[in-house]
Amino acid sequence: MPELPEVETVCRQLEPELEGRRIERLEIYDPRWCRPTMPTELEGAVAGRTIERLGRRGKYLLLGLDRGLTLVMHLRMTGNLVLVEGEDRLDPSEGMRLYEGERSTSERHLRARFLLDDGRELWFTDPRRFGEARLIEDDALDAHFASRLGVEPLSGEFTPQALAEIAAGRTAPLKSFLLDQKGIAGVGNIYADEALFRARLHPLSPAGSMKADHHEALRDAVVAALEAGIDGGGASIDDYRDGRGEKGRMQDEFLVHTREGESCPRCDGTVERIVVSGRSTYFCPGCQVRLRRRPRRRRARK
Ligand SMILES: [Zn+2]
Repeated sequence: MPELPEVETVCRQLEPELEGRRIERLEIYDPRWCRPTMPTELEGAVAGRTIERLGRRGKYLLLGLDRGLTLVMHLRMTGNLVLVEGEDRLDPSEGMRLYEGERSTSERHLRARFLLDDGRELWFTDPRRFGEARLIEDDALDAHFASRLGVEPLSGEFTPQALAEIAAGRTAPLKSFLLDQKGIAGVGNIYADEALFRARLHPLSPAGSMKADHHEALRDAVVAALEAGIDGGGASIDDYRDGRGEKGRMQDEFLVHTREGESCPRCDGTVERIVVSGRSTYFCPGCQVRLRRRPRRRRARK
């Protein structure tokens, strides 16, 4: 599943290409992509608008349009947003036929495409079909995300103190804590493992058991793991492709994720795999400390 570094990679590649381009037409081949909005309604609302920016919030892609609207897209498990040009383009009349599966794999999984005024096309492909899109007025964006997403980990707001406040009193294991988008936005299964390894923290440690030095170590580790992912162009374990349709390189640079049975890059230990919150979790029992739950402080009695 694409996480913050994968989505950020797509944004950085595509924003300069898309900025200022006019959307001649949007064609939606799968109504599930934009439900509960009707495809014809969304197609009508987007057609003719100019793209002002492509941004990111957590794992969401934000296609900012003129006249105060943003198309918020989520890639979910297997979605990809790819700019297509030249011979790869399709005849506009072929879209529906392609979605029904008469062409190559990527074309068969085409769920929607934007036809741009320079002749290029932006494709949303998605084999598992969990990806989604929703048109939201710019004025309502903050409220839309307030209930869904917590702090942006690459922003200045993500301080050790902020992390301490989010973790306070939480008994959930650190792995689950990092996956919760309402706490820290954008971290998923890959980068949670990588961050906990960097911070030398065991994934089953209760989040609320961290002390000040752990907060600082984990804050730094989350940022470092995400930045490494962006530097590596994202990770292509499964379906992820970047905005140009290419695989990322980060999967070759994981420290522990998917490395079960391999030597720890830091100590004499061996990387193990356990399941936390239903997700495969990789860590080194030799150098990742398992914190104990802090005893509750008793109220002072007179
Ligand atoms: Zn180790």
